Amino acid sequence: MAVLVTGGAGYIGSHMVLELLDRGETVVVLDNLSTGVDWVVPEGVKLFVGETGNQSLVSAIIRAHDIRAIIHFAASIVVPDSVSDPLGYYLNNTVNSRALIEAAVKGGVRHMIFSSTAAVYGTPDRLPINEDDRMNPESPYGMSKLMTEVMLRHASEAHGLGHVILRYFNVAGADPRQRTGQSTPRATHLIKVAAEAATGRRAGMSVFGTDYPTPDGTGLRDYIHVSDLARAHSAALDHLRSGGANGTFNCGYGHGFSVFEVIGMVKKVSGVDFPVAIEGRRPGDPAGLVADNRRIRSVLDWRPAYDDLETIVSHALAWEKKLALRNR
Ligand code: UDP
Repeated sequence: MAVLVTGGAGYIGSHMVLELLDRGETVVVLDNLSTGVDWVVPEGVKLFVGETGNQSLVSAIIRAHDIRAIIHFAASIVVPDSVSDPLGYYLNNTVNSRALIEAAVKGGVRHMIFSSTAAVYGTPDRLPINEDDRMNPESPYGMSKLMTEVMLRHASEAHGLGHVILRYFNVAGADPRQRTGQSTPRATHLIKVAAEAATGRRAGMSVFGTDYPTPDGTGLRDYIHVSDLARAHSAALDHLRSGGANGTFNCGYGHGFSVFEVIGMVKKVSGVDFPVAIEGRRPGDPAGLVADNRRIRSVLDWRPAYDDLETIVSHALAWEKKLALRNR
């Protein structure tokens, strides 16, 4: 019996693989290596290079490895790219997920955990955002994830596939033991970009927008440590295996930091005063996104271990330094 992790060679998926191994599970990875890297997949974990939409491959994996649970990370995740290539995003995120869900149902898989996103909410009416608040994705990326949520719920009702949907807020940091981290080249996320600037991998960075209705005018986000996020999936798996009900949960800490606060922390922890340019707003960026996390705390057995910006930043910086040595 094994757990199939799609996207297990990627940023969050590779942390999940470690979390599962640490729990003593057998793990199989399916990843097309479009953004993932094979060297983060630990020895002893079987890596299949392929598409989640390849039903004959997925069905063969399910049979050969007695897969009872799938944790589905594999997806395209760059919001502006989804605006310029919506059909590519609907293919990779929605159409391929449909094929995966069908292969799971036909193969007798019992449980699926799906990576969704705060982008399904669009610009929220109020903070913190509750799971039952209005959903209004403002990008093809957000809509491609929401469509998959809906398919999974309906397939689950019709075919008894137990599921948990996790809506991630801003994921950051790296494995505290530095076995994996954010390794994707050309990453756009704030803490990764700032860590690159601090380690000299880029000359400087930009702040997108200083005129938001927030205390210091910059965007406010709820940054969650990637290892706490992996643990949320573990808790979801335990919940489903013990007969818990299907559910949708926000994954965040319930409080936000501004772009200036994050950059200040990266400068403080690294001791490097890298150049920061002020630019206009990035299209589609809401002013603030903060999770109401009461549901996950009350239904799943989940308590964050790294709810501390300094810890998140220091783990991200340590990984960036390791990556710089590796890529020299
Ligand atoms: N941001 C920034 N400079 C960067 C990257 C991001 O000012 O180089 C800002 C962005 O406008 C937003 C926040 O940082 O307010 C978080 O952006 P990120 O891309 O990390 O995640 P998102 O919230 O867009 O998913």
